[in-house]
Amino acid sequence: MTQNVDSFHSKAHPDLPTLELHGYLRATRCTTCRKDLARDAFQRDLARLNPLWAEFLEEIVASGALETEDPELRTAKGLRTNPDGDVDLPGAPYTTFRYPPCPTCLNRPPVLKDGTRAVVEVDHEGAFKPTNTAGILQPAVVMFGESISPLVKQAAEDAIDSAGKLLVIGTSLATYSAWRLARRAKDRGMPIGIINLGGVRGEDAFLDHLPPGQEGELGVRVEMASDQLLPSLVAHLRELGIGSIGPAEAFSDPLKTVKGNYAFKDMLS
Ligand SMILES: [Zn+2]
Repeated sequence: MTQNVDSFHSKAHPDLPTLELHGYLRATRCTTCRKDLARDAFQRDLARLNPLWAEFLEEIVASGALETEDPELRTAKGLRTNPDGDVDLPGAPYTTFRYPPCPTCLNRPPVLKDGTRAVVEVDHEGAFKPTNTAGILQPAVVMFGESISPLVKQAAEDAIDSAGKLLVIGTSLATYSAWRLARRAKDRGMPIGIINLGGVRGEDAFLDHLPPGQEGELGVRVEMASDQLLPSLVAHLRELGIGSIGPAEAFSDPLKTVKGNYAFKDMLS
């Protein structure tokens, strides 16, 4: 399980199923019909409908401004960021930004909750019309204030329930959706290992009940960067013969419950 939305895990280990708790940026999702659309196709449409923005992006990529986090260096390379984090785009105001509608809703405008058929139309170039009443696409991630879908929530709980131990890596568990999964594991008496820098939300609740003298078999807390620890941990698991990789077909359905003895099957990051 991961809270990452950058598809990092599915790229790093495509044969190991990953449950992406907070969704993913590789697709957009229609806020009306909930269908996914590949992000690449959406980005191509954005570039076509907003040539000034596309040109600006090309220049910024070529200048190397996106390769640094230093705001002064970024500004020097032509990318000015406002104090609120917005990027200042000279000659390309947000008010003229155009975007495509959901192709499914465009082909067949859906019936709305009030029983009327939605209006989903495009201009002569395929851009969303301001008079539309449905078919807005958003990144397929769980936005601030939104809830995890019931299917993902159930799959996450099933994964915890079928696990023997839980390893928490590189997360502060600051979001409740992830914290409650760790809490569920704790309530089921599962040993929990926590590896991160800076602690996790309500950390004491996961470790305080452990008897003194136990040497990590019932729970452990390690203050360490995950990239320092993971390589040797993987090597050790492989030595023990529990480093097998899950079947490729399991990944085709990320909600499928994973059975088997895979390294990191019970991992929350
Ligand atoms: Zn739609």
